[in-house]
Amino acid sequence: MPSELVRLRALHDELSGCRLCPKMIGPVVHGPPVLSKVILVGQAPGPREGSFGRPFAWTAGKTLFRWFEESMGIDEAAFRERVYIAAVARCFPGKASGGGDRKPDFGEIARCRPFLAGEVEILRPELVLAVGSLAITEVLGKEVVGKKLDTLVGRELRTRWLGHDVDVVPLPHPSGASPWHKMEPGKTLLALALALVKRHPAMREVLAPGAR
Ligand code: SF4
Repeated sequence: MPSELVRLRALHDELSGCRLCPKMIGPVVHGPPVLSKVILVGQAPGPREGSFGRPFAWTAGKTLFRWFEESMGIDEAAFRERVYIAAVARCFPGKASGGGDRKPDFGEIARCRPFLAGEVEILRPELVLAVGSLAITEVLGKEVVGKKLDTLVGRELRTRWLGHDVDVVPLPHPSGASPWHKMEPGKTLLALALALVKRHPAMREVLAPGAR
């Protein structure tokens, strides 16, 4: 068994036992220990993901995986087998007072960051798919705070993230709560972003027949 897989499984064991955030609602949700050069980073699980035991298991996931299937011909099962799925926070934050899911707060993000750092150190990713504004900010840092999705989606950016140089393709959040990706210029920018993902060398390896 590759040493990276052993380390990733040990990290998942540690993650599964984490109870550091008092306001977070368990269980901890993470995907399988996929050794991939492509990492997808979401925001946090929703209320259903815990019972399914996997990220993006409900409606937002259906939209997200449809994007990949329609633009690059990879179905949900193959995507989950070949791309490592992470998140800014790994527990359900609960509902916000105005409806919708609460966003993880600064302390929760900081407490969960060492797990992301561990994953990056083990996997040494070449391409990061940052899904939604919170994940985009987490990966790209302060310089994108306050920038609109219109100026970020549809571009490939290079950054140093958690001590490692990566290409980043920002994507909108697929949640039904935001209509951004269903309206222009969101529709066109999303298509541009997915085309960038498809032609990235690390994603081409993921998409190659018999990649796993
Ligand atoms: S959000 Fe992250 S740091 Fe907080 S309890 Fe869940 S796994 Fe632990």
